[in-house]
Parts: sequence; structure tokens; C-alpha cells
Amino acid sequence: MERVYNFSAGPAVLPEEVLKECQEEMMNYGGTGMSVMEMSHRSKAFESIINTAEDDLRELMNIPDNYKVLFLQGGASLQFAMIPMNLMKNKVADYIITGQWAKKAFEEAKIYGDAVAVASSADETFSYIPDCSDLPIRDNADYVYICENNTIYGTKFKTLPNTKGKTLVADVSSCFLSEPVDVSKYGIIYGGVQKNIGPAGTVIVIIREDLITEDVLPGTPTMMKYKIHADNKSLYNTPPAYGIYVCGKVFKWLKAQGGLGVMKEKNEKKAGILYDFLDNSKLFKGTVRKKDRSLMNVPFVTGNEELDAKFIKEAQAVGFVNLKGHRSVGGMRASIYNAMPIEGVEKLVEFMKKFEAENL
Ligand code: PMP
Repeated sequence: MERVYNFSAGPAVLPEEVLKECQEEMMNYGGTGMSVMEMSHRSKAFESIINTAEDDLRELMNIPDNYKVLFLQGGASLQFAMIPMNLMKNKVADYIITGQWAKKAFEEAKIYGDAVAVASSADETFSYIPDCSDLPIRDNADYVYICENNTIYGTKFKTLPNTKGKTLVADVSSCFLSEPVDVSKYGIIYGGVQKNIGPAGTVIVIIREDLITEDVLPGTPTMMKYKIHADNKSLYNTPPAYGIYVCGKVFKWLKAQGGLGVMKEKNEKKAGILYDFLDNSKLFKGTVRKKDRSLMNVPFVTGNEELDAKFIKEAQAVGFVNLKGHRSVGGMRASIYNAMPIEGVEKLVEFMKKFEAENL
């Protein structure tokens, strides 16, 4: 069966090598006579899968020893609540609003305490990242929150905000493992894995140990305490076992690619092909301020809704799928995560050139 070039924003393309390995191991994982879906999360085989996954992630991201890695459930959206419930000691948090996901996290935090938007790019449909060098961060803020890569709008923080010494919390769902990061600059880095790492249902939380305490908001459910998951090494209850297994395979794949430095180069090259074309096209145009452009999500428009729809339809017919922009913004969006091969982007650009010639 032919595979398509899948430009979905998530769940998204995974490396073919990984999918094939999963297929090969489906009936009998490592001589256990069963698939990973069928095995106890307390078994030796699974213990090795989760421990190896954590070790490989630590190596890839160079995660310092004073950070825990948690494999949880509930998607990125459950973190919108878990973060304030666990971190709001003063019940004060400052949010930077760069899109719908940041806004959702912000709205959720307001349920639990005094959350304030200290910056926003809503005035220009989130097409840029606000200047965050001197924000009115409050002295008693428990943390400053960002969505580092804005999946819907295609923007990315190229420099982290000046949090004035406060803990930085970042949703990296759509840029996870796309380039090296300095973990020590964050209190929490978290993301759903369904864009760059694995199947939906697993969320990875990398959290500095001093933020993991018993001192959480009253009424916080047991399952929403970081401490319970940290103390139990992500095995307090049944974890998203198959998802963790696939994540582990993607970590190995990333290591084989050469690690995050190499991924960054590849991603810059891939995104560069598309952005260069958009910058020179007479029909298509990018919608994001150049300096804030994401390497992962590339939104673009023709300026004519009918033509956008025609493009999406014709692209789909020849195997470039899921190019429709988010329902809230329209137009097109090509998500080009780690596993999208460079040929996928080159061929898409060829197709766009042809479409341009036919429709100008
Ligand atoms: N944050 C970002 C940046 C996202 O792109 C998404 C999903 N598209 C979410 C959060 C929500 O993720 P989930 O569906 O896993 O809750």
C-alpha cells in the first residue's frame, strides 16, 4: 500500500522505520510471545522498555539529574490544570498568550488562582511572538507560562522570555525534540507526544525536582499530583504502555539520526525550502512574522478562500494530505515534524509551483 505525505498537525507522521519495527514485534515482543499491548506494566520486559525510553530521552535532551521525567496520560490539556494545581503555592501565575493553546492553559489556570496575561499577540491573530524581554512579571508569581511552538499559527519562541527569576513552564507539544534545548532554563517542559514522538495518549513531563511537592492545591486528585507519579516512576497506575514503547523507538531513531543538533539542521533545511518558496511565490504567502517562524508548522494562504480549497483538494488527490489550516484560521498549514522526509517538502513545493503556474 502506498503511503501518503502526511502534513497533519497531530496526530502526525512517524518514522517508517519505527512503524515497521512495531509491526515486526507486534505478535511477539522480544521473545515474550505477546505484544507490548498485552503485557503487564509490572513485567521485566516493560520495566526495561520504560527505563530505556527514559535513559534515551535523558541522553537526547541532556536532562540534568535534578529533573524527573514522567510519562503520563490526559494529553497536553490535562497539564493545563495539573500545572496550576501543583505549582500555585501563592496562587499567582503569569501567562504569555501566543495562541489558542496558551489561552486554553490560561483559562484553566484562572479556575485555580490569579492568572494574568502579561503579554499577548492576539491583536494580530497570533502571527508573531511578543517582545518578552521586560514583562510585568509579578514578584509573587509562582511561574511564567509559555506555549513555545504555536501549532495553529506557526510561531515559535526563538528566545525564551525573561521571567525575572521566576520558574518557566513551557508547552513544547509541537516542537518536542526538534532541536536542542537547555533544560536547566525551565521548571517544567511538557508535551503531548502525538506530533513529534509517538501515538496520542502519552504526555511527557520533564520537571525540576524542587517543584515536586506534597504542597498542592486542596482537592487535587491523586492522579494529578506530580509527586505520586514521580515517587512511582510513572507506574502509579497502568501507564500508556504501548505509547511509551513507541516513544522509546522514536528516541532510538533520533539517536541514530545523530541527535537533536542534527535534527535541528535537518528541520532548518526542510522548513527553509518551504519558506523560501513562499517568500518568492506570486500566489502563496506565509502568514507569520519572519523572525518568529516555526520550523514545524508552516501556515500559508493564497488570499482567496476558493483557491485555498482547490489547492487542498488537488494536493490531497496526489498524496499530500492534511494540508488544511486549523478550523479557527483557515488557509493551509504544512506540519513538517521530524519524521517528515525532506523529499516530502521538496515534492510539496514542486506541486505548489505547478499549482501556481496553473492558477495565477
Ligand atoms: N498544546 C499544543 C501546542 C498543541 O498543539 C496541542 C494539540 N494540538 C495541545 C496543547 C493539546 O494537546 P492534547 O490534545 O494532547 O490535549
